[in-house]
Amino acid sequence: MWSRPSGFLTSSMSSEHNGVKNVQAGSVEARGIGQHAATTITYAPAPETVKVEISQRYGHFIGGEFVTPRDKGSFATINPATEATLAMISQGSEQDVDAAVACARKALPKWRALPATERAKYLFRIARRIQERARELAVLETMDSGKPIRESRDVDVPLVAAHFFYYAGWADKLEYVRLGTPSTPSLREGRSGMDSPRGARGYPETARGYPEPVGVCGQIIPWNFPLMMCAWKLAPALACGNTVVLKPAETTSLTALRLAEIFQEVGLPDGVVNIVTGDGRTGSAIVNHPGIDKIAFTGSTEVGKKIALAVARASGAGASPKGRPKKLTLELGGKSPHIIFDDASIDQAIEGIIQGIYFNQGEVCCAGSRLLVQESIIEEVRKKLELRMASLRVGDPLDKNTDVGAINNKAQLDRINYYLSEGQKEGARLCVPGLGTNLGSNMGSNMGAPSLREGRSSDANDGKMLIDPSRSEGVSNHVLNQLPKKGYWCRPCFFYDVQPSHIVAREEIFGPVLALMSFRTVEEAITKANNTPYGLAAGVWTNKGSKMFEVAGKLKAGVVWCNTYNRFDPTSPFGGYKESGFGREGGMQGLGAYIA
Ligand code: NDP
Repeated sequence: MWSRPSGFLTSSMSSEHNGVKNVQAGSVEARGIGQHAATTITYAPAPETVKVEISQRYGHFIGGEFVTPRDKGSFATINPATEATLAMISQGSEQDVDAAVACARKALPKWRALPATERAKYLFRIARRIQERARELAVLETMDSGKPIRESRDVDVPLVAAHFFYYAGWADKLEYVRLGTPSTPSLREGRSGMDSPRGARGYPETARGYPEPVGVCGQIIPWNFPLMMCAWKLAPALACGNTVVLKPAETTSLTALRLAEIFQEVGLPDGVVNIVTGDGRTGSAIVNHPGIDKIAFTGSTEVGKKIALAVARASGAGASPKGRPKKLTLELGGKSPHIIFDDASIDQAIEGIIQGIYFNQGEVCCAGSRLLVQESIIEEVRKKLELRMASLRVGDPLDKNTDVGAINNKAQLDRINYYLSEGQKEGARLCVPGLGTNLGSNMGSNMGAPSLREGRSSDANDGKMLIDPSRSEGVSNHVLNQLPKKGYWCRPCFFYDVQPSHIVAREEIFGPVLALMSFRTVEEAITKANNTPYGLAAGVWTNKGSKMFEVAGKLKAGVVWCNTYNRFDPTSPFGGYKESGFGREGGMQGLGAYIA
């Protein structure tokens, strides 16, 4: 789905690129797995050249226009790769949320009564406009979030357009959404109100037997896939005839606001989508607003629990519109197991592991962050992984050679560093490919490499040697590029000698940090994989089809990838078990949450 990280080049690259001679972004040793002879390849910078316009200040998008916030509070959104301020974003107040909900409610009757094929036309137009403005959206996403341009350009934005295309196709086929669907003909004209009696299939039906929208939806999204989360939330909601109040994450509001411009361009009726920016207080105002019929949330399990409680309380008090309980879907965190059996194609599995945990800096809810490797091959996997990871380039997200970009925000980098430190204190060994093992906990700074080179001990290791020479064969410091002086950085790394009780095996780190553990039998792999309060995703690598199906069937995870990882498609439902939440997004199942 996205192109392979740019390491492992096999031919030399000219040092003259884009007319810039002898300007080196760094160098990398290219070699085949298991080979020790190396060709040194020099990378010239490949900067993205498209420039995007960013206003100094943004208001909310309410009732089809950008409005000045009720109170004048605002905060800076910064580029995490440079720490430069990109724009000032408005802090949404309760009054702003009130205004947005009022506009969404006003727009609802016309939008839901619109012939389904007409609603579909808007979604198709949005999808096409996203494609036309794809490069601009990708650059903006990369600047605001820190993800590499290769990913925003080749993964995020194409998937955003694909989601709108996919759900546009569903708009006039909603009677087929649930199994055992009605036999009544599909509705291609207007339909009657929301309060029609429940039909034989359990949802309210109009005289024509057509499913009805839930109403006004409050949607709250995180910072790791800002635009993609907009699409996952908005496209199915709009296809079903709902109207929306959406809050992007505090650190990544810019692409949602750019999408609002697209809604204006395609003439989406005013008030159908409203975007209120702000921090958790704005999210809380949306959750608690009595004019909202459904909450869809993606984010941390901690906040998800608070939201579940608030929605339950509000519904218990009959505070939702028309006295109906508020609907709720939660897409929360994960600590997903990635299982490699000894009969797997190991070189392919290594690529899967890389995609599983180092894609988007590991800031992925379904990241394959617990690597379970069969004992007989664990040393081979560890060595190959170390070699492959050393070829990943960390740095300027706007450089097309970059594999791993900037961590989205300072708080998240601090959180990653906390886990790096705690993991070592508990006795797990940390390997930073290209640097060595048991590095000090401050991986986010440029000081990581020097402290290792000098062989100083880390605080976390109480004076023990940092470098274990037996663990660093095959890689050397000069394969790694220097990290930029400013910004939030963490080199990809992994822990080994990890016990299931270690904090790095239990808690979601949300960074480019992998925990490597072993198992002996199929049963042990399944037990260890399911030993988590989460249940979002899992991966299985084996060349035995029967083993694949047996293991996949026993894993308690919403998604199980077999001989691949982190593959997304609009047709495929996504969601969790246990503390990873409930409800599905994507596919036909993703529509269920938006039908009353
Ligand atoms: P949060 O759960 O805090 O934030 C997700 C969204 O909810 C953001 O828009 C946030 O606003 C908003 N929010 C925060 N508090 C409330 C509240 N009380 N009521 C309603 N909305 C609220 O995640 P973070 O962005 O802070 O990330 C922290 C951790 O969450 C990560 O380290 C990771 O473990 C996990 N996470 C999981 C994701 C997933 O896809 N499953 C995605 C992102 C994070 P604001 O942006 O202002 O905080």
